[in-house]
Amino acid sequence: LTVGVVKETRPGERRVALVPKLVERLTKRGLQVVVEPGAGLRAQLADELYEEAGAHLGEARSSDIVLTVTPPAPADIERLKAGTVLIGFLNPLSNVDGVAAMKKAGIRAFAVESIPRISRAQAMDALSSQANVAGYRAVLLAAQRLPKFFPMLTTAAGTVPPAKALILGVGVAGLQALATAKRLGAQATGYDVRPEVAEQVRSVGAQWLDLGIEAAGEGGYARELTDEERAEQQRRLTEAITGFDVVITTALVPGRPAPKLVTAEAVRGMRPGSVIVDMAGETGGNCELTEPGQDTVAHDVTICSPLNLPAEMPVHASELYARNLTELIELIVDSEGRLALDFSDEIVAGACVAGADEEVN
Ligand code: NAD
Repeated sequence: LTVGVVKETRPGERRVALVPKLVERLTKRGLQVVVEPGAGLRAQLADELYEEAGAHLGEARSSDIVLTVTPPAPADIERLKAGTVLIGFLNPLSNVDGVAAMKKAGIRAFAVESIPRISRAQAMDALSSQANVAGYRAVLLAAQRLPKFFPMLTTAAGTVPPAKALILGVGVAGLQALATAKRLGAQATGYDVRPEVAEQVRSVGAQWLDLGIEAAGEGGYARELTDEERAEQQRRLTEAITGFDVVITTALVPGRPAPKLVTAEAVRGMRPGSVIVDMAGETGGNCELTEPGQDTVAHDVTICSPLNLPAEMPVHASELYARNLTELIELIVDSEGRLALDFSDEIVAGACVAGADEEVN
């Protein structure tokens, strides 16, 4: 079997789906790795590094298993042969047409977003590995935009108090953002509608903001708030937010538009020079004034909405992602290098978003 690593075509994407240090793990399984020339360049991985690791350079899309970071464009789907096993972020909930095109082309597609978040699948959890990178990066972006120090400083020229950072939504990205803000010396506070998160917030040395609104949903995710709850949450947050220099928002509800947590009125109440980094821009944003993909200034508050933070740190983002994919490949390929798809396995069945009718979840 061949495993192809494509060069990403989405503008701004710098990650690559496999790194040289994992090539050997696949070749040891009897797989041949084919890398599209230049696939790793934007992640500082030259073609020669792949070749030295045992991969060949060539047309990756004609491989039996094709690895990608982002969903293929329609023209790229047409370049895949029927029967291809495609693995990557495929955005199945909103990329409905793309997934239908894959099915029509006879492709078996496995979306890493759909891998069930059970402990056995932790090493394959690409949502988590990339959210970790994004949470870290969001804090660096905030620190750069803030016209103040993050840490407390005591100097001969005076004492500077620490910046106050509020993280709204404490999943994987939010927890990393809290930890990073703490490491940079800010006073960090976390807020979520899942009460069990309070413990995790405290465990990284941050404070827990309790607004008295709970909305735990299924499978460890939050549920969408009712209109009443949302209005109450916005009112309470508008009050709480005035004391913070930095607000990082990460709140998501699977398959739904991002909940609006920060209203225009809340932004107006923030101190001049404050910074909001809205990590939910891709699904509309958590702040009413967010312009997805843009940096804007409103009421002297900078609102940043980066759309692909993991791509800004492609070296480690690619490395972690490649490990996630390698684990998944090892689940679907036997020790002799043959495809061994077991649809009674909830990971295989859960991840499959296009294929024969009986295979797709
Ligand atoms: P996510 O990206 O879906 O959402 C980010 C956070 O936003 C969540 O913590 C959510 O509760 C919060 N949120 C949603 N609506 C909100 C609102 N109106 N107000 C405030 N906060 C709101 O989350 P995620 O990082 O994907 O993590 C989701 C869950 O999955 C967590 O319970 C996490 O521990 C769990 N998880 C499990 C595993 C595993 O067991 N393998 C791996 C990773 C994550």
